[in-house]
Amino acid sequence: MVADTILNFIDGEYVATGKWFDNRTPTTNALIGQVAEAGKAEVDAAVAAARAALKGPWGKMALEKRVELLEALVAEINHRFDEFLEAECADTGKPKSLASHIDIPRGAANFKVFADMVKNVSNEFFEMATSDGLGALNYATRSPVGVVGVICPWNLPLLLMTWKVGPALACGNTVVVKPSEETPRTAALLGEVMNKVGIPKGVYNVVHGFGPNSAGEFLTSHPDVNALTFTGETRTGEIIMKAAANGSRPVSLEMGGKNAAIVFADCNFEAAVEGTLRSAFANCGQVCLGTERVYVERQIFDRFVAAMKAGAEQMKIGVPDDPATGMGPLISKEHQNKVLSYCRLAMEEGATVVTGGGVPDMPGELKNGCWVQPTIWTGLPETARVIKEEIFGPVCHIAPFDSEEEVLAKANDNVYGLSTAIWTTNLARANRVAQKMEVGIAWVNSWFLRDLRTPFGGAKQSGIGREGGVHSLEFYTELKNVCIKL
Ligand code: NAD
Repeated sequence: MVADTILNFIDGEYVATGKWFDNRTPTTNALIGQVAEAGKAEVDAAVAAARAALKGPWGKMALEKRVELLEALVAEINHRFDEFLEAECADTGKPKSLASHIDIPRGAANFKVFADMVKNVSNEFFEMATSDGLGALNYATRSPVGVVGVICPWNLPLLLMTWKVGPALACGNTVVVKPSEETPRTAALLGEVMNKVGIPKGVYNVVHGFGPNSAGEFLTSHPDVNALTFTGETRTGEIIMKAAANGSRPVSLEMGGKNAAIVFADCNFEAAVEGTLRSAFANCGQVCLGTERVYVERQIFDRFVAAMKAGAEQMKIGVPDDPATGMGPLISKEHQNKVLSYCRLAMEEGATVVTGGGVPDMPGELKNGCWVQPTIWTGLPETARVIKEEIFGPVCHIAPFDSEEEVLAKANDNVYGLSTAIWTTNLARANRVAQKMEVGIAWVNSWFLRDLRTPFGGAKQSGIGREGGVHSLEFYTELKNVCIKL
């Protein structure tokens, strides 16, 4: 386990404060560390350091050198892979088999993909006719937006943080990161890596704390922060958007979801079951892209529900170190209580519990952990709150459908619009349904298959803007047109 004192990282130095909050591990809910909460003074210092760094060596650095440093970051994260893995699993309780496959490698890869992108991207150029016959040339240039405030959630801490810090730095910005209060470790550890590879002081800063009246609010309301990028709940995103209105600052918001999977009778049955099990229960259901609503064509409904039940019941619930663990705990007691309250609500709303619905019986000190069984419901009306609201746990509802039209209407009848997974061997139908789904990301015969060059983001209340590949340039750079009269 990494050091039990987790500090802010400001201007290349680790900084304690007079105020501490608890860091608990969700497998046992035991106290494993103390985190230094940043107050207004520390947030001011971090923003000032980030602003100063824009004018220092970082601001003057040639693109080639910047790219070299980002590539060195990847190598150094991989070099310290096990430390990152320990830190992430201590904070989240997720299986090491998952974090070593997704969280840490992707956390590193996010620097590589955006280093490659900025190295290769071209800007637009237009020739223009003028009445004197001599013409004019237009070309666009991109410059950094400045200091970017990065507000992160707890479900994939390193991965989702570097998904923003990667493009921000690749484009020449500086950042102040506010990790989730639940998962402060990997963001803090990354400070050491920044120093080791020679990223100039002040380019990467981390302030710990909560939202309201804490580091989150101090950062998002800070007038010297030029842009705000956020991943988290829609409700929080709306608060951040209001804060960003002061000073007309741009926001990029990656928010909640209530994603639907659509399973047609002509699907590859085994692949659809495997993919849906993963999308419902991976990371204990705490994936924004995860499936909480499953619609299955009636001919295969009973068989599909039975296969999902068998798959869920075979899943081993356990600790990060056990290679057999398929599912870890939820992030906190508070979140466990929230998910369990939805389990009770499902019963009140008339659900049939196919499997799960409660807390698994865990041995010894694990009894105190934040566990919830993988849970499958059927039989709820489409108006049920359990069908409408994001739960963000290892739960899904499975409903039958009879026609493409019907399933599209049901799947789209939600305020969120993040992602979908469509399972069918009829590619014409797959295309038709994907086009009509009101989402930012549609998978066909897969789930969570991510090419980092593609646009990522949500429709409706799931987000504003797209990040990924060249789309990240829209947010992390200021585009300027230069028009030259010949
Ligand atoms: P959250 O909104 O509770 O917290 C996210 C971050 O915002 C935390 O760092 C928190 O401290 C901070 N925050 C809270 N209130 C704030 C305020 N008033 N001002 C400034 N900062 C504030 O979200 P969470 O519980 O950490 O994460 C789960 C949510 O994230 C789910 O809704 C999930 O769908 C969403 N999510 C979305 C994506 C995506 O890409 N769309 C990815 C992962 C998670």
